[in-house]
Amino acid sequence: MGLVDTHCHLQSQRFDVDRATVQVACLKALDWIVVIGDDIPSSEAALDLLGPRIYGVVGMHPYYAKDFDDATLECLRSMAATEKVVALGEMGLDYFNEYSPRDVQALAFRHQLDLACELNLPVVIHNREADEDCHAILSEYADRLAGCIMHCFGSGPEYARKFLDLGFYISFAGNVTFKKAIQLQEAAKVVPLERLLVETDAPYLAPVPMRGKRCEPHYVAHTAAFLAELKGVDPAALEAQTTANAHQVYRIPKTA
Ligand SMILES: [Zn+2]
Ligand SMILES: [Zn+2]
Repeated sequence: MGLVDTHCHLQSQRFDVDRATVQVACLKALDWIVVIGDDIPSSEAALDLLGPRIYGVVGMHPYYAKDFDDATLECLRSMAATEKVVALGEMGLDYFNEYSPRDVQALAFRHQLDLACELNLPVVIHNREADEDCHAILSEYADRLAGCIMHCFGSGPEYARKFLDLGFYISFAGNVTFKKAIQLQEAAKVVPLERLLVETDAPYLAPVPMRGKRCEPHYVAHTAAFLAELKGVDPAALEAQTTANAHQVYRIPKTA
Protein backbone atom coordinates (compact mmCIF):
# COMPACT_ATOMS: atom_id res chain seq x y z
CA MET A 1 0.00 0.00 0.00
CA GLY A 2 1.33 3.42 -0.99
CA LEU A 3 0.40 6.96 -0.10
CA VAL A 4 -2.78 8.80 -1.01
CA ASP A 5 -3.55 12.49 -1.38
CA THR A 6 -6.76 12.97 0.60
CA HIS A 7 -7.32 16.56 -0.57
CA CYS A 8 -6.31 18.31 -3.78
CA HIS A 9 -7.80 20.72 -6.30
CA LEU A 10 -6.65 19.13 -9.55
CA GLN A 11 -9.50 20.94 -11.34
CA SER A 12 -7.89 24.30 -10.48
CA GLN A 13 -7.08 26.61 -13.39
CA ARG A 14 -3.46 26.38 -12.35
CA PHE A 15 -3.43 22.86 -13.83
CA ASP A 16 -5.08 23.85 -17.12
CA VAL A 17 -1.76 23.82 -18.98
CA ASP A 18 -0.68 20.30 -18.04
CA ARG A 19 -3.44 18.59 -16.04
CA ALA A 20 -3.16 15.26 -17.89
CA THR A 21 0.59 15.08 -17.21
CA VAL A 22 0.15 15.90 -13.52
CA GLN A 23 -2.61 13.33 -13.28
CA VAL A 24 -0.44 10.59 -14.75
CA ALA A 25 2.50 11.53 -12.51
CA CYS A 26 0.45 11.55 -9.33
CA LEU A 27 -1.36 8.29 -10.04
CA LYS A 28 1.97 6.68 -10.74
CA ALA A 29 3.25 7.79 -7.33
CA LEU A 30 0.08 7.41 -5.27
CA ASP A 31 -2.63 4.79 -4.68
CA TRP A 32 -5.47 7.26 -5.21
CA ILE A 33 -6.41 10.91 -4.85
CA VAL A 34 -9.45 12.92 -3.84
CA VAL A 35 -10.39 16.04 -5.83
CA ILE A 36 -12.25 18.58 -3.71
CA GLY A 37 -14.75 21.22 -4.82
CA ASP A 38 -15.10 24.61 -3.19
CA ASP A 39 -18.11 25.98 -5.04
CA ILE A 40 -20.61 24.62 -7.56
CA PRO A 41 -18.51 25.06 -10.74
CA SER A 42 -15.39 23.57 -9.13
CA SER A 43 -17.43 20.69 -7.70
CA GLU A 44 -18.79 20.00 -11.18
CA ALA A 45 -15.24 20.16 -12.53
CA ALA A 46 -14.20 17.65 -9.86
CA LEU A 47 -16.90 15.28 -11.10
CA ASP A 48 -15.49 15.58 -14.61
CA LEU A 49 -12.16 14.23 -13.33
CA LEU A 50 -13.57 11.14 -11.59
CA GLY A 51 -12.12 7.92 -12.90
CA PRO A 52 -9.90 5.02 -11.90
CA ARG A 53 -8.33 5.89 -8.52
CA ILE A 54 -9.78 9.41 -8.58
CA TYR A 55 -12.56 10.24 -6.11
CA GLY A 56 -14.46 13.46 -5.57
CA VAL A 57 -15.89 15.66 -2.82
CA VAL A 58 -18.49 18.37 -3.46
CA GLY A 59 -19.23 21.43 -1.36
CA MET A 60 -19.16 25.16 -0.81
CA HIS A 61 -16.14 26.82 0.81
CA PRO A 62 -16.83 29.48 3.46
CA TYR A 63 -15.36 32.09 1.08
CA TYR A 64 -18.50 31.74 -1.02
CA ALA A 65 -21.01 31.29 1.80
CA LYS A 66 -22.83 34.48 0.80
CA ASP A 67 -23.79 32.81 -2.49
CA PHE A 68 -25.18 29.70 -0.77
CA ASP A 69 -28.92 29.33 -1.40
CA ASP A 70 -31.58 26.65 -1.90
CA ALA A 71 -30.37 26.00 -5.43
CA THR A 72 -26.84 25.37 -4.11
CA LEU A 73 -28.18 22.85 -1.65
CA GLU A 74 -30.15 20.99 -4.31
CA CYS A 75 -27.17 21.03 -6.64
CA LEU A 76 -24.94 19.52 -3.94
CA ARG A 77 -27.60 16.93 -3.13
CA SER A 78 -27.76 15.75 -6.74
CA MET A 79 -23.97 15.79 -7.23
CA ALA A 80 -23.52 13.81 -4.00
CA ALA A 81 -25.46 10.96 -5.58
CA THR A 82 -22.73 10.50 -8.19
CA GLU A 83 -20.70 7.33 -7.91
CA LYS A 84 -17.20 8.00 -6.49
CA VAL A 85 -18.33 11.12 -4.59
CA VAL A 86 -17.08 10.12 -1.16
CA ALA A 87 -17.86 13.14 1.07
CA LEU A 88 -19.24 16.67 1.25
CA GLY A 89 -16.90 19.69 1.48
CA GLU A 90 -14.97 21.66 1.71
CA MET A 91 -17.17 23.53 4.13
CA GLY A 92 -16.55 25.42 7.35
CA LEU A 93 -15.49 28.79 8.69
CA ASP A 94 -12.72 31.17 7.64
CA TYR A 95 -12.20 34.23 9.83
CA PHE A 96 -8.80 34.98 8.31
CA ASN A 97 -10.34 35.81 4.93
CA GLU A 98 -13.76 36.98 6.02
CA TYR A 99 -15.21 37.19 2.49
CA SER A 100 -18.66 36.34 3.85
CA PRO A 101 -19.99 37.59 7.21
CA ARG A 102 -19.54 35.14 10.09
CA ASP A 103 -23.24 34.42 10.61
CA VAL A 104 -23.64 33.78 6.87
CA GLN A 105 -20.67 31.39 6.94
CA ALA A 106 -22.22 29.53 9.88
CA LEU A 107 -25.53 29.15 8.08
CA ALA A 108 -23.99 27.72 4.89
CA PHE A 109 -21.88 25.43 7.08
CA ARG A 110 -24.94 24.14 8.96
CA HIS A 111 -26.92 23.54 5.78
CA GLN A 112 -24.12 21.36 4.45
CA LEU A 113 -23.71 19.50 7.74
CA ASP A 114 -27.46 18.81 7.76
CA LEU A 115 -27.20 17.47 4.22
CA ALA A 116 -24.23 15.25 5.14
CA CYS A 117 -26.19 13.78 8.05
CA GLU A 118 -29.21 13.22 5.81
CA LEU A 119 -27.11 11.53 3.11
CA ASN A 120 -24.88 9.71 5.61
CA LEU A 121 -21.71 11.13 4.04
CA PRO A 122 -18.49 12.16 5.80
CA VAL A 123 -17.45 15.84 5.73
CA VAL A 124 -14.26 17.74 4.89
CA ILE A 125 -13.85 20.81 7.11
CA HIS A 126 -12.00 24.04 6.34
CA ASN A 127 -11.28 25.95 9.55
CA ARG A 128 -9.07 29.01 9.54
CA GLU A 129 -8.79 31.11 12.70
CA ALA A 130 -12.27 30.07 13.74
CA ASP A 131 -11.45 27.31 16.25
CA GLU A 132 -14.01 28.18 18.89
CA ASP A 133 -17.04 28.57 16.62
CA CYS A 134 -16.02 25.68 14.37
CA HIS A 135 -15.69 23.38 17.37
CA ALA A 136 -19.01 24.55 18.83
CA ILE A 137 -20.92 23.88 15.60
CA LEU A 138 -19.24 20.53 14.94
CA SER A 139 -19.87 19.40 18.52
CA GLU A 140 -23.60 19.61 17.79
CA TYR A 141 -23.23 17.30 14.81
CA ALA A 142 -20.41 14.96 15.87
CA ASP A 143 -22.68 12.10 16.98
CA ARG A 144 -24.60 12.09 13.71
CA LEU A 145 -21.74 12.53 11.22
CA ALA A 146 -20.59 9.53 9.16
CA GLY A 147 -17.03 10.85 9.52
CA CYS A 148 -15.12 14.11 9.70
CA ILE A 149 -11.76 15.35 8.43
CA MET A 150 -10.22 18.58 9.75
CA HIS A 151 -8.44 19.42 6.51
CA CYS A 152 -5.22 21.45 6.23
CA PHE A 153 -5.11 21.63 9.99
CA GLY A 154 -3.92 25.07 11.05
CA SER A 155 -4.51 25.19 14.79
CA GLY A 156 -2.41 24.29 17.82
CA PRO A 157 -2.31 21.17 20.02
CA GLU A 158 -5.18 22.32 22.24
CA TYR A 159 -7.71 22.27 19.42
CA ALA A 160 -6.14 19.18 17.87
CA ARG A 161 -7.06 17.40 21.10
CA LYS A 162 -10.56 18.89 21.10
CA PHE A 163 -11.29 17.76 17.56
CA LEU A 164 -9.78 14.34 18.29
CA ASP A 165 -12.13 14.11 21.28
CA LEU A 166 -15.03 14.48 18.84
CA GLY A 167 -13.74 11.41 16.99
CA PHE A 168 -12.44 13.32 13.96
CA TYR A 169 -9.43 12.78 11.71
CA ILE A 170 -6.75 15.49 11.49
CA SER A 171 -5.18 16.10 8.09
CA PHE A 172 -1.90 17.93 7.56
CA ALA A 173 -0.83 19.72 4.39
CA GLY A 174 2.54 21.12 3.26
CA ASN A 175 2.42 24.06 5.65
CA VAL A 176 3.31 21.74 8.55
CA THR A 177 6.79 21.45 6.99
CA PHE A 178 7.39 25.23 7.09
CA LYS A 179 10.16 26.28 9.43
CA LYS A 180 8.05 28.71 11.45
CA ALA A 181 5.05 26.39 11.83
CA ILE A 182 5.94 25.51 15.41
CA GLN A 183 2.37 25.43 16.77
CA LEU A 184 1.24 23.28 13.89
CA GLN A 185 4.12 20.87 14.44
CA GLU A 186 3.17 20.67 18.13
CA ALA A 187 -0.35 19.81 17.01
CA ALA A 188 0.94 17.06 14.72
CA LYS A 189 2.79 15.51 17.66
CA VAL A 190 -0.42 15.00 19.66
CA VAL A 191 -2.36 13.35 16.82
CA PRO A 192 -2.17 9.55 17.13
CA LEU A 193 -1.22 7.70 13.93
CA GLU A 194 -4.71 6.13 13.86
CA ARG A 195 -6.29 9.57 13.33
CA LEU A 196 -3.69 11.14 11.07
CA LEU A 197 -4.16 11.97 7.39
CA VAL A 198 -1.91 13.62 4.81
CA GLU A 199 -2.91 15.86 1.92
CA THR A 200 -1.46 18.49 -0.39
CA ASP A 201 -4.31 20.99 -0.91
CA ALA A 202 -2.60 21.31 -4.33
CA PRO A 203 -2.05 23.73 -6.06
CA TYR A 204 -1.51 25.51 -2.72
CA LEU A 205 1.02 25.14 0.08
CA ALA A 206 3.74 23.05 -1.53
CA PRO A 207 5.79 21.36 1.20
CA VAL A 208 9.51 21.92 1.77
CA PRO A 209 11.63 21.38 -0.40
CA MET A 210 9.06 22.37 -3.06
CA ARG A 211 7.88 25.42 -1.13
CA GLY A 212 6.92 28.32 -3.40
CA LYS A 213 6.25 26.09 -6.41
CA ARG A 214 2.85 25.03 -7.65
CA CYS A 215 1.96 22.10 -5.43
CA GLU A 216 1.18 18.75 -7.08
CA PRO A 217 -0.57 15.78 -5.45
CA HIS A 218 2.49 13.51 -5.39
CA TYR A 219 4.34 16.09 -3.24
CA VAL A 220 2.33 14.57 -0.38
CA ALA A 221 5.31 12.24 0.05
CA HIS A 222 7.38 15.16 1.41
CA THR A 223 4.74 15.97 4.01
CA ALA A 224 4.44 12.32 5.03
CA ALA A 225 8.22 11.98 5.38
CA PHE A 226 8.38 15.17 7.45
CA LEU A 227 5.63 13.96 9.79
CA ALA A 228 7.32 10.58 10.27
CA GLU A 229 10.53 12.32 11.27
CA LEU A 230 8.69 14.80 13.53
CA LYS A 231 6.76 12.06 15.29
CA GLY A 232 9.72 9.69 15.45
CA VAL A 233 7.92 6.87 13.66
CA ASP A 234 8.91 4.59 10.81
CA PRO A 235 8.04 6.30 7.49
CA ALA A 236 6.59 3.07 6.07
CA ALA A 237 4.35 2.69 9.13
CA LEU A 238 3.09 6.25 8.81
CA GLU A 239 2.45 5.73 5.12
CA ALA A 240 0.51 2.51 5.67
CA GLN A 241 -1.52 3.86 8.58
CA THR A 242 -2.48 7.19 6.97
CA THR A 243 -3.61 5.35 3.85
CA ALA A 244 -5.61 2.87 5.94
CA ASN A 245 -7.20 5.85 7.74
CA ALA A 246 -8.10 7.45 4.41
CA HIS A 247 -9.78 4.23 3.25
CA GLN A 248 -11.68 4.17 6.53
CA VAL A 249 -12.95 7.76 6.61
CA TYR A 250 -13.82 8.00 2.90
CA ARG A 251 -15.14 4.41 2.98
CA ILE A 252 -13.13 3.44 -0.08
CA PRO A 253 -12.64 -0.32 -0.22
CA LYS A 254 -9.11 -1.69 -0.43
CA THR A 255 -9.02 -3.53 -3.71
CA ALA A 256 -5.36 -4.51 -3.92
ZN1 LIG B 1 -9.42 24.58 2.78
ZN1 LIG C 1 -8.73 22.74 -0.25
